[in-house]
Amino acid sequence: MTKALSDALETQRERLLPCVHCGFCLPACPTYTRLGDENDSPRGRLHLMRSVVEGRMSPASDAFRTHIDRCLGCRACEPVCPSGVEYGTLLELARETVAEHHPPGLLTRTLLAVMAQPTVRGAFMWKSRVIRGSGLAGVMARMMPNVGPFRGAKLGLAMLAASAPWRPPRATRADRSVGSLASRVPPSAKRGRVGVLAGCVQQGLFARVNDATVRVLEANGYEVVTVPRQDCCGALHAHGGDLDRAKRLAQANIDAFDGVELDWVAVNAAGCGAAMKEYGTLLENDPAWSGRASSFAARVRDVTELLADVGPKIGAEVQCTIAYDHPCHLLHAQKVERAPLAVLAAVPGAEVRVVERADECCGGAGIYGITHPDLGGQIGRDKVAAVRACGADAVATANPGCMMQIGAGLYIEGAPEGVLHPVELLDVSYRRAGFYH
Ligand code: SF4
Ligand code: SF4
Repeated sequence: MTKALSDALETQRERLLPCVHCGFCLPACPTYTRLGDENDSPRGRLHLMRSVVEGRMSPASDAFRTHIDRCLGCRACEPVCPSGVEYGTLLELARETVAEHHPPGLLTRTLLAVMAQPTVRGAFMWKSRVIRGSGLAGVMARMMPNVGPFRGAKLGLAMLAASAPWRPPRATRADRSVGSLASRVPPSAKRGRVGVLAGCVQQGLFARVNDATVRVLEANGYEVVTVPRQDCCGALHAHGGDLDRAKRLAQANIDAFDGVELDWVAVNAAGCGAAMKEYGTLLENDPAWSGRASSFAARVRDVTELLADVGPKIGAEVQCTIAYDHPCHLLHAQKVERAPLAVLAAVPGAEVRVVERADECCGGAGIYGITHPDLGGQIGRDKVAAVRACGADAVATANPGCMMQIGAGLYIEGAPEGVLHPVELLDVSYRRAGFYH
């Protein structure tokens, strides 16, 4: 047993003790409610982790790998737990333990390696944008059969196609304008200085959301400053059991953001925000970094929190109906529920309908839909049905993975609904109101 592995198990031992096996978490767990197997419930998985820690089960066993691997990492089990079990942290340690014995599949390993290398990542994202822009991703996604080994590829292509921008009904020229739009509102010292995380997937496929984030923050009086040398947040690596790489990326980001005088670190991707708010936990056993990591984490805010804090300015009318779905890592991990709805409420004319069971995972969970096409597909189809029942023009959610997963499900069904981030709608409203020049 390696030193790293024994360290991970020791940390688990302490964090596992608060579980009193009450089972309150079972109905909240999408894998348990679908499969009905205790081993695929939070309580069951914690029991498996404890069995490994206490030497009653081999960390190399297929059972441990299978049930840990099947977890979405959605963390819906955390807010309902009366004992405050830190399930997300335990899962990452369990995944690291599994990875010591069963390296992840080629697709996962390639993705994690690409995301950790800015140059390779940039080239990969550029290629992805070319394929998306050419329409090839959509054509291939539509042509590919949704059976057997093709399902993962079809979903991946549909995810790429669905990452294209959505336009509201009766879009105006102002909605489509691109380029160097900037806020007319001077920054206010009271609001504070903000650095925005660009992110890997977000900057690669959703740069428009980052641009909208900067504009709406500035329009609400924040001073947005550029943070050079920032990197991927490491969330994908932590969730995939590659904690060493996640720690290196966290340290790079702490260095980059600490190099600029800031009040807040704004994040518009729920998974990244959750990971960055937990850098203190990730680096807790590293004396050289734990203090800096905790104080960094305390300054991280989802962009919707910063906007809701000041009561976002009301823009111009955008007539549309929007379904809202909670990203798990915003609702369960960050406990942010009302702020995205406050952002949408600042858009006159937008009728917002919260999706039925909006607190349940969409099945995205990184590339879960691709690596687990049966279970991920089932959870995804349930989410798409709930979105469609809203009868909306588009669904808003604040995480690129959820946007692509739900968008892909809609795309495969040939549904007309689009997908967007809440700040994109506020940005359209501000464009129409003439808040930018
Ligand atoms: S709700 Fe918490 S304490 Fe109860 S079984 Fe689930 S994890 Fe354990
Ligand atoms: S993280 Fe989600 S899928 Fe995993 S045990 Fe908790 S509720 Fe179930």
